[in-house]
Amino acid sequence: MPELPEVERARAAIERGALGRRIAAVDDADSFVCRPHAPGEIAAALTGQVLEEAHRRGKTMWVDTTGPVLGLHLGMAGQVVIDGGPAPRGWDRFSVTFEDGGRLALRDKRRLSRAVLDPDLSALGPDAAEIGRDAFRRRVGRGTLPLKARLLDQSTIAGVGNLLADETLWRARLSPLRRSGELSAEELDALRRALRAATRDAIARGGVHRGNLMPSRRRGGHCPRCGTPLERATVGGRTTFWCPREQMGGEPG
Ligand SMILES: [Zn+2]
Repeated sequence: MPELPEVERARAAIERGALGRRIAAVDDADSFVCRPHAPGEIAAALTGQVLEEAHRRGKTMWVDTTGPVLGLHLGMAGQVVIDGGPAPRGWDRFSVTFEDGGRLALRDKRRLSRAVLDPDLSALGPDAAEIGRDAFRRRVGRGTLPLKARLLDQSTIAGVGNLLADETLWRARLSPLRRSGELSAEELDALRRALRAATRDAIARGGVHRGNLMPSRRRGGHCPRCGTPLERATVGGRTTFWCPREQMGGEPG
């Protein structure tokens, strides 16, 4: 599932390959992916406009144009494909054709991605890769939620999914079960540093599945640092792996 690093790579691909191009046609016929817009509505708003800037907060992307803003979300399995041929079986759920003949497609076997005009970002917290130290301490270090659940809450900070949360907590040597409000300022700072490093590495390596913990993140897996068998439980509604020796504390909820 795309997390912040995958979405950042998609944003960067748009920045590299699609800015400055004028839209000749839009395929917005999938009224589920393009909800709440009716077919033809996004096309009417964007045809003739030029893509100007690509932005991201958490897992949400948006592209400024000379007309309205185009919001894109990759959902559970989507990807942005620029200047590729059409996908088989209608997997291009939304696409833009440029005057030069190239195209930008939102490709998604599972049809859970979204394309929308003027997206509402008000429910999203600050971006997990860009949030400052004080805001991170204040937003993450509060309440009784287990730390893992706090990291996954997109209104606290935006962009962390299941794999990035496990990777980050393992790097910071913090238990996913710790109550968020009980962390010290030093622990919160270490958590933020680990999150930034894990995110940076994932962007550079091609995705969150290339994290240091990921090869061991399976039944029977061992901690890559100390060799202890990893613990596995459901935390914050998601399957969670951690090293019980180095990531101690917290009670199973
Ligand atoms: Zn360990």
